[in-house]
Amino acid sequence: MAILKVARIGHPVLRCPAEPLPREEIAAPATQRLIDDMLETMAEYDGVGLAGPQVHVSRRLVVYGVAANRRYPDAPAIPLTVLVNPRITPVGDEREDDMEGCLSIPELRGTVPRWARLEVEALGRNGEPLRYPAEGFHARILQHEVDHLDGKVYRAAALRSQTRGLSVRDGRSGARSVRARSACPRRFPAVGS
Ligand SMILES: [Zn+2]
Repeated sequence: MAILKVARIGHPVLRCPAEPLPREEIAAPATQRLIDDMLETMAEYDGVGLAGPQVHVSRRLVVYGVAANRRYPDAPAIPLTVLVNPRITPVGDEREDDMEGCLSIPELRGTVPRWARLEVEALGRNGEPLRYPAEGFHARILQHEVDHLDGKVYRAAALRSQTRGLSVRDGRSGARSVRARSACPRRFPAVGS
């Protein structure tokens, strides 16, 4: 296992939509090692979530979970979870404002409106299908991490919410529009390269 370098705001990998991780690549040793390294990196920096692009891997891979956490002392405990190609769908239209931070933007916190409840669909670290509801802080983490997969960082989300509100399109998770960014390379290196 290894502590990975966390991409900081300004790095293009954080601004580019990540590509799906093919199901057949989940079991590959390089992917499993990456997942272990992401979990270790998240723990090292007291994070509650970490997305592939944050460790310079532009793939739709997320780890998250909350134990006793110094950065979020009041957060509820959430088991360590690995999500491959997660899709989230808001349930209802209630939203909540709360403070959020990001390992890619150290020292900064901001209030971000998020859906209070959602449904998650993903594959787990063994390729198994996952589907479950999440609410409150749990739902907040998931929205933050899926934003990373879509090339968005929370500061931009906070800013946007002040002007025209966070938007969700056709009720299908992962269907939020992503602006094409000309600065994005066609492909970032594959997992393990
Ligand atoms: Zn973040």
